[in-house]
Amino acid sequence: MNTTKYDYLIVGAGLFGATFARLATDAGWKCLVIDRRQHIGGNLWCDNIDGINVHHYGAHIFHTSNPEVWAFVNRYVEFNRYTNSPIAVAPNGNAYNLPFNMNTFRQMWGCITPAEAEAKLTQQRSKAKAMLAGRQPENLEEQALSLIGEDIYTQLIKEYTEKQWGRKCTELPASIIKRLPVRMVYDNNYFNDSWQGIPIGGYNPLIEKLLEGSDVMLETDFFDKREQLSAMANRILYTGPIDQFFDYEHGQLEYRTVRFETEQLPTPNYQGNAVVNYTSASVPYTRIIEHKHFEAFGEAINAIPTTVISREYPQEWTPELEPYYPINNEHNNQLFAKYKAQADKLSPKVIFGGRLANYAYYDMAPTIEQALALFKRIHNDGE
Ligand code: FAD
Repeated sequence: MNTTKYDYLIVGAGLFGATFARLATDAGWKCLVIDRRQHIGGNLWCDNIDGINVHHYGAHIFHTSNPEVWAFVNRYVEFNRYTNSPIAVAPNGNAYNLPFNMNTFRQMWGCITPAEAEAKLTQQRSKAKAMLAGRQPENLEEQALSLIGEDIYTQLIKEYTEKQWGRKCTELPASIIKRLPVRMVYDNNYFNDSWQGIPIGGYNPLIEKLLEGSDVMLETDFFDKREQLSAMANRILYTGPIDQFFDYEHGQLEYRTVRFETEQLPTPNYQGNAVVNYTSASVPYTRIIEHKHFEAFGEAINAIPTTVISREYPQEWTPELEPYYPINNEHNNQLFAKYKAQADKLSPKVIFGGRLANYAYYDMAPTIEQALALFKRIHNDGE
């Protein structure tokens, strides 16, 4: 093994590790980036199947309102004009636009104007108010009914949420849904951000550019050669699971995960949209992603005669599965606080970053934002 002394050993070639590596390399620091997977990019990794970039770990749509983050990614790749506008196929068999907007209300109730839709929503919510008779909603079902009323709850929320969490809405806390935004305009753009899109050519070129100039070792698990690898660098940036770093001494943090069933089909266009949610309990998966719609628009979708779809099945997490969504309940948050206190004591020799080390769900833009902030802190403060 190469015994060069590096400034940084970066554990994890995901977005956080790669962003930090780019900044550190540009500042003249020497980085060794390792990942236990066979590829770089963490959960952004795309497989290329007959010319279609397939988001291997689930659909990734970049969106941000942060000009610094947008300028940063555009330095390395060009983004296309993909706009996320999911469709939901409901238990009643109809298809609805998401997020809830005038199109959804027209499809659900035939409302044409915002005033008609407001009146219908008020009527729907008042039923729930009568049921609650002045008390606060006690579970997710009551919360959703009071925010949006029965029709939308029944057709678009209830069974989908139960599939996602593996529990009845009446057993889920009301706090999961704080707000249910409704838009009184005909606008199917899921995000409110200033910018969104998919890097042309998928996410791999972005990560490759971020890692240019760093040494990269794949299929290398930090914990298999912890001492040897640690000795190769002055400092460590660790982006893996925080509980594993401390050998799970306080217990294991819990996650929800998703199983993806990916299939290539002999048709150029399977569902006419990148994201279609299935909100009925009778369909075992929550969504179908048709990957080519992330990068091909209009007639261009017919340029490749086949398509690739992924069905998503949310499921309980066990340690051999991918840890996707942290379960930030009281138990896990307390556990995390203990690990965090230990981690803080190791700074600046070992620093922790990214979604797994922070036990938090971060979209891509906040991940970059945090890597930029961490680098600035270390670089400017001479930490
Ligand atoms: P990761 O991508 O998880 O990278 C961590 C890396 O560390 C991994 O490659 C892992 O193999 C490696 N590692 C861990 N332990 C070790 C070890 N012991 N030794 C060596 N290597 C190790 N964000 C959006 O903005 N838009 C979306 O549409 C979107 N969709 C998503 C869909 C799903 C299903 C999920 C789970 C996330 C989604 N995200 C989305 C969030 C996005 O994936 C994250 O923001 C991003 O992956 C965070 O990067 P990271 O580097 O912190 O973590």
